[in-house]
This record gives sequence, C-alpha cells and structure tokens, in this order.
Amino acid sequence: MDDFKSVYCKGCWQQMKVPIFIRGPISFPFRLMGIRPSRMHPNLCTICESMFTKVKKNKQIEIQATVMFADLRGYTRLSEHADPANIARLLDKFYDECAPAIWKRDGIINKMIGDAVLSIFNFPLERHNHVHQAVMAGIEIQRKCRDMQSEFSAISGVDTPVKIGIGIHTGTASIGEFGTAYKDFTIIGSVVNKASRIQGAAQNGEILISDDAYSSIKGDYPHLEPRAYNLKGIDQPIIAYTVPL
Ligand SMILES: [Zn+2]
Repeated sequence: MDDFKSVYCKGCWQQMKVPIFIRGPISFPFRLMGIRPSRMHPNLCTICESMFTKVKKNKQIEIQATVMFADLRGYTRLSEHADPANIARLLDKFYDECAPAIWKRDGIINKMIGDAVLSIFNFPLERHNHVHQAVMAGIEIQRKCRDMQSEFSAISGVDTPVKIGIGIHTGTASIGEFGTAYKDFTIIGSVVNKASRIQGAAQNGEILISDDAYSSIKGDYPHLEPRAYNLKGIDQPIIAYTVPL
C-alpha cells in the first residue's frame, strides 16, 4: 500500500527542481532541520506547505483543481450509541482507508471539516487528468467502505452501518494562506462551496459529480443520466451525475 511513497519531496522537485529528501537515511540531515513529510500528502514536505505561495511570488494564487468531499454519514447517530473512544478509532480507520486512495492519485487532504474529508487534485502535484483521478479515488473509497462494514461495526461496537457520501466538482479556485493566527494553506471559492453542496445531495454510498466534472470524464462514462438538484445557497438548480461503482 505504501509503494506510492517517494524518497524525495515531489512538490519541491516539481516547483523548484530541488531534491528534498523526506525518507530513508539520506533524509536525516533534512529531518534535523525540521523538514518532514507533510500531513496533507506523504510525498510533499513541510517546506511545500509554507513556501509554495512564496515560490509563486504571491500570497494567493488561482489554480485549476478538482475538489472532492467525502463525508462520513450517520455520524451523529453513531455517536449517540457508541463509546467516544470507539468513535475516535472509527474516524482514524476511516481516515487511514480514505487517505491512500487520494494520495496514490496525487491528491492532497487539505483538511477535515467535521466528519468530511476535503481533498484537492492537481495541486501542488499536477495531473492533467485530475477529474479522472478524483473520481477513481472516490470509487476506491466507496468500495472499501462497502467491504469494511463488519470491521467498522466491530470497531464502533454498534450495528449502525457506516456510509459515505461523495461530491466532486472542478474549476478555478483560489489557494493561499488565509487567517492570521493559524497560517496554513487552504482552498476557497465557489468550486469548494459547490463541491460541498453536491456532497450534501449525494445519497449514502453514492458519488455525485457536477456537469463540469462529468464533461472531463465523459469518455469513460458516456451514458450517465443528468439529474437536477436544488442545492442550499445556490440559486439555479444544478445538474449532477451519479458515477457507477
Ligand atoms: Zn517539499
């Protein structure tokens, strides 16, 4: 499962052509300087997290990206019935299973918002087919979740099924350092809001993608049926598609 992990930071290499070693004996001097693999992606380093905006000579940059929200459903119900320590272990397990599906495809995990994972594809590691990569990650997450129900029940100690809803959208977003107290990079813009709303409309076990995302992967799935959704905070009904697992 760890075979996608590289010995050097792929972000520093892509952006600056500098080899920063983050694994193996050669990484030792870098570790002494406090450079470690990023929590957002094991093939990125802590320099990438803080320096990329400076590399681009801007505080904030516009990027083409695909945003995926994967939300753990039934969490409230679960937390009413299960022991808090078991819930924490379940969340860890969920994260451990989702993360490699995203990392393998060069997506980063930007943050956890409540019980949803916000991931970004095509930044800072570029992939021309980033929508496809995001959809493949979503499919892997849904399949894993389906296969792991009994394991999830064993961890939580209750029989409530664990389901995931996934929403994917693509477009232009802003990325940068926002906030003054906690300097960390994050992604903002209507792409993020819309991806989040679409995730909210996705049923348990479903991957719902926007029409923009669909137009990028139509070659793989030529016959998906468009459905109209009225989403909270978005005036016009939006068209979205369910990707088969
Ligand atoms: Zn780096």
